[in-house]
Amino acid sequence: MGSNPRQIHILFFPLPAPGHTLPMVDMAKLFARRGVRASILTTPAQAPAIATSFRRTSEAGHPVETLLVELPPSEADAPQKLGDANSAEAHIDFLVSTHRYRSSFEQLVREHRPDAVVTDMFFPWSGEVAEEVGVPRLVFHGTSFFSFCVRDALFRHPPPESSDGDEEGIYVVPGLPHRIEFGRGQLPNSQKRRPDFDKLFVQMKQAETRCFGVVVNSFYELEPEYADRYRKALGMKAWHVGPVSLCNDDDGNKAERGGGAGAGVDPDNCLNWLASKEPSSVIYVCFGSLCRFTAAQLREIALGLEASGHPFIWVVRGLGGQGATSSEQWLPEGFEDRTAGRGMIIRGWAPQILLLNHEAVGGFVTHCGWNSCLEGITAGLPMVAWPLFADQFFNERQLVRILGVAVSMGDAVRYSLSEEDRPVVGAEQVARAVEAVMGGGGEMRRRARKLKEAAMAAVREGGSSYGDVGRLIEELLEKQTVPSRGGV
Ligand code: UDP
Repeated sequence: MGSNPRQIHILFFPLPAPGHTLPMVDMAKLFARRGVRASILTTPAQAPAIATSFRRTSEAGHPVETLLVELPPSEADAPQKLGDANSAEAHIDFLVSTHRYRSSFEQLVREHRPDAVVTDMFFPWSGEVAEEVGVPRLVFHGTSFFSFCVRDALFRHPPPESSDGDEEGIYVVPGLPHRIEFGRGQLPNSQKRRPDFDKLFVQMKQAETRCFGVVVNSFYELEPEYADRYRKALGMKAWHVGPVSLCNDDDGNKAERGGGAGAGVDPDNCLNWLASKEPSSVIYVCFGSLCRFTAAQLREIALGLEASGHPFIWVVRGLGGQGATSSEQWLPEGFEDRTAGRGMIIRGWAPQILLLNHEAVGGFVTHCGWNSCLEGITAGLPMVAWPLFADQFFNERQLVRILGVAVSMGDAVRYSLSEEDRPVVGAEQVARAVEAVMGGGGEMRRRARKLKEAAMAAVREGGSSYGDVGRLIEELLEKQTVPSRGGV
């Protein structure tokens, strides 16, 4: 920040879903530590968990303020977070109706007059508000440079609707530095789309072309060709500031990330259990915060983990659609007795980054949400890449084909928001993939550990992400000296 003594104020407004909120919470902490006044906007439902996440940072002298965005009284009964959606339809309904927060957001921006707002990609209307009030808007997608580049290529060269690929069902994404191909049914267009959802994506793209820039939870050394391409060939102004989860640098912060809200386990119990295991012996299995599986699929995962013979921690969310969590519906008979001492099932929320970074954990079965990918990388772990929907198939390609730190589930997996539409992956295949990472996987492990070092270096003083955070702050400070603010 040079010799400029002024402080800038940034309002962060994430989509109410852990995969979007957690990295923005981390980002707010990161900027607060760099002297920025940081405020986070959140719904009343998420506020307590978020406040817990900030407790330690605030005690260390870097407070982050929580401000509430409220629904208009006429919509008070609408779902308040993406996790409340218990079907693919409800998931999309939620995403296409976030403009219901517009007036509350506008009121807060007018009241606080921040130097910038960082808002979720799913809030294109927040760009209009920012323009009207005269505040720069930065967009946060929560995904990688690689993903941006693939999405852009698919937008310019849409794969054929009918076959989503050639006769073998292979679609090669044109114009990328690496040969990236997708199998049949592994691209977003293999799903029947809703017109209102498509319209939202068009609005998001338009809003991005008008925004001040994009903040990316990634680091340059992870994907230099794609960071360069995004900035130069696609002409986007972007700052890479990640991996932001590394700001949780002690066990207390790691355990409280996400507020421990609805915790499925006491973190100390997990740590004690892990302490009884050999280094790098445990496979950690978690499919993020939104996934839903059928009972049949959960049973196969259970049998696969059992057959692999490796100790495991398996985080299980409620059954898709029905919201049922009763184990009888999906656990094979006698499973818990047979795997007693060797396996731990966490029903609900797990302290993921705390567990991934324990020395007993040696591999990660992930659904390839971008946060989880980065968290696996920053823990130096080889992974089993099992994508389900959204950008997860792009992330899988990056982990498997470009970075070489994961094994793929291959043709067994298909893109679908709905668990009912995905073919069931059998226990044998689950066991084989786990074995490939835990039994073999030496080269993947070596590469993953190298990437971990590069990630740690990127966020340290003098590192590439550290530098980009500083450059963004400088730019916002410079803008502060320009007095004109429109739209008062
Ligand atoms: N997460 C967690 N505990 C859980 C499930 C998820 O801490 O039991 C965190 C995980 O560490 C990650 C985020 O929630 O930071 C999920 O984001 P991701 O992009 O991986 O997937 P999504 O949930 O958006 O599909």
